[in-house]
Amino acid sequence: MSEPLGLDRLRRFVNELTALLERQLEESVILDNGLVLLQQLVEHDDWLPAQFAEPHPEHYLQYLLHADSLQRFSVVSFVWGPGQRTPVHDHRVWGMIGMLRGAELGQRFERQPDGALLPLGEPLRLERGEVECVSPTIGDIHQVSNAFEDRVSISIHVYGGNIGTVKRAVYQADGSEKLFISGYSNTSPPNIWI
Ligand code: FE
Repeated sequence: MSEPLGLDRLRRFVNELTALLERQLEESVILDNGLVLLQQLVEHDDWLPAQFAEPHPEHYLQYLLHADSLQRFSVVSFVWGPGQRTPVHDHRVWGMIGMLRGAELGQRFERQPDGALLPLGEPLRLERGEVECVSPTIGDIHQVSNAFEDRVSISIHVYGGNIGTVKRAVYQADGSEKLFISGYSNTSPPNIWI
């Protein structure tokens, strides 16, 4: 097969992930196979349109690249300005993260019997081309930051739902949660079909 160019890469990913989800597999199988597809997508940093790679000076951005028409999944470019970080948060659906440009640091958290949230292990550094995943069954609470203080990093996130509409939570240090709906930073995604 010829090497895909530009948004062909994203089209191919969307097609293959859709075919995978059509098979109605268990989450672990979806993630195992989906991570291989995502790894192929982020292997080349030559396809993300510049308007979905643009950082904001004060906070990170989440540009919707594609939403499945049945809302089984969504694909987002997560753009970190220098030194930017998320609050501690969860997703409530499965999520896959593929590093397209730069690097990020992810710290996982675990709920204690007394309700507090404590860091689980050391922060994991995700390098360009690497992938990881989260979900309510394998660990869903984390805090992520740009690994760089002086440049933009970008990861491609894929979620098992229309993530911009999912009611989920950010967490305080005492473990208390505050519900939020992230929305998306862009009002119109790219048309990947033309
Ligand atoms: Fe997250």
